Amino acid sequence: MVATILYVEDNPQNMRLVRKMLNSAGYQVIEAEDGMSGYQAIIDLRPDLVLMDVNLPDIDGLEVTARIKSLPDYAGIPILALTANAMHGDRERCLEAGCDGYIPKPVTKNELLSGVAYYLEQAERRKV
Ligand code: MN
Repeated sequence: MVATILYVEDNPQNMRLVRKMLNSAGYQVIEAEDGMSGYQAIIDLRPDLVLMDVNLPDIDGLEVTARIKSLPDYAGIPILALTANAMHGDRERCLEAGCDGYIPKPVTKNELLSGVAYYLEQAERRKV
């Protein structure tokens, strides 16, 4: 079965680049361009995994993550922060907010695809 990945990202260039990488590996990609529509897409569409930009025009990606992780029915969906804020402490802040993992931008295709595959597999194992 093809995994569905939601990418929450307000930058169209990043969106295009990451979508291309994910499509090349056969994933189906859903897009959201701000925090609230990202939140709603998770609730409505229940993607297999979420890639979450941190800096978004409305509520930030960490706030979206914290809200999702507070919902027992949705907390099992892996959320990977994908952010250019690659400064000291950012990784910790993402993990504290409930993100399962963290990928600094700019991301390479290998990093992205191996991260996605790893967290999809972890989530799959928890279901069994
Ligand atoms: Mn952004």
